[in-house]
Amino acid sequence: MSTAADATRVEEVAGRVVADHDPRRVPVQEFLGACFDAGLSWVHFPEGLGGLGLSRGLQASADAVLQAAGGPTPFWLNPIGYGMAAPTLSEHARSPELARSWLRPLATTEDIWCQLFSEPGAGSDLAGLATSAVRDGDSWVVNGQKVWTSLAHRARWALLLARTDPDQPKHKGLTYFVLDMEAPGVRTRPLRQMTGQAEFNEVFLEDARIPDEHRLGAVGDGWRVAMTTLMNERSAIGAGGTERGSGTIADALALWADRPHRRTPVLRDRLAALWTRAEAQRLTSARARRTATAGSPGPEGSVSKLVAAELNQDVYEFCMDLLGPEGTLYGSYEVRREGGRDADWRGALQQRFLRSRANTIEGGTSEVLRNVLGERVLGLPGDLRADAGKAWKDVPRG
Ligand SMILES: Cc1cc2nc3c(=O)[nH]c(=O)nc-3n(C[C@H](O)[C@H](O)[C@H](O)COP(=O)(O)OP(=O)(O)OC[C@H]3O[C@@H](n4cnc5c(N)ncnc54)[C@H](O)[C@@H]3O)c2cc1C
Repeated sequence: MSTAADATRVEEVAGRVVADHDPRRVPVQEFLGACFDAGLSWVHFPEGLGGLGLSRGLQASADAVLQAAGGPTPFWLNPIGYGMAAPTLSEHARSPELARSWLRPLATTEDIWCQLFSEPGAGSDLAGLATSAVRDGDSWVVNGQKVWTSLAHRARWALLLARTDPDQPKHKGLTYFVLDMEAPGVRTRPLRQMTGQAEFNEVFLEDARIPDEHRLGAVGDGWRVAMTTLMNERSAIGAGGTERGSGTIADALALWADRPHRRTPVLRDRLAALWTRAEAQRLTSARARRTATAGSPGPEGSVSKLVAAELNQDVYEFCMDLLGPEGTLYGSYEVRREGGRDADWRGALQQRFLRSRANTIEGGTSEVLRNVLGERVLGLPGDLRADAGKAWKDVPRG
């Protein structure tokens, strides 16, 4: 738990950073580098790795000072880097020096990160994945195909989960690596979404080499390391806005204010219900943030993600109903390869509506998260697992 003295310290450090590196004047990379050096990128990380060794809940105090001075929300500039790679590297890199060499350029957003987990035959059943990594001296040789890899076309580094022992049951034969996306044998192909954007990709790995030093955790312990990534992913996606009326509900409120002629009592009723859900979600996340210490978030991150994803979809459906026929107008379906995630990357409301359909799939589908909630929080009987205890290579695959 944090103390009042810790909170004061964080605010003072943040105050010094914005005084010495005014985010409205210096380049964004310089500002984010100063935040890293001062320990404000992730205040719960160890000193030297972008943190101050304090409680995770104090990040909000740092962010409030940095953003009030005009600082960016770094998560949107390098979402997989900040939300998933950083906690995984800080906890599992082979040495603090190696972790630091990855974390600083990640924090400044010079190095974008991506996550090579899902495959054509392994999404919800991630532990069933088939991409193989075979030891060869001091390195590993990787072959396989990944899919839905957000930002792979811009990424310098990737979090990779691969099978190193097909004779073990599926969870036990996995190992976790950091892959250089510029290494020979790594090929990326865009996948276009219904928004017109191509923010994700297929990634083909053909004899791509990874030095053993870039393994995270022990050989065969990849599932445990992946849990750090997945729990932080869900918690990051489900975090929502910190101020009352912020986050996606702000879009609905702004549209309501802007279209008085489209208002009806039924829509008013729906907006009030959505606002109440958004407020409950915001307060639940705020409580989780305040009580969070170091380490990875628990199943409460999965609950936040589940609730936030369904709320986003309902908010944007409401916006389309309020827009009426205007909701069917869409700027352009030209393929867009997102360059940077600046403030406008989410595009017009129509684009946000289409993009929100993916919210209940990315980072774990709502069905799977309900299973997590049922099993880990409520203690209900587990899902059927026909492959339990069987060697991965003996499990039939379609
Ligand atoms: C926008 C977006 C970005 C993404 N970015 C990345 C990324 O950067 N890196 C990455 O590795 N992956 C990424 N993904 C992939 C994502 O993690 C998977 O799509 C997701 O885990 C679901 O897997 P699947 O698509 O294979 O669906 P499947 O697992 O085939 O599921 C199909 C359907 O079956 C249901 N289902 C499956 N198993 C169960 C069960 N046990 N109980 C009840 N229902 C079940 C699912 O809920 C779903 O409705 C992204 C996906 C999206 C949409």
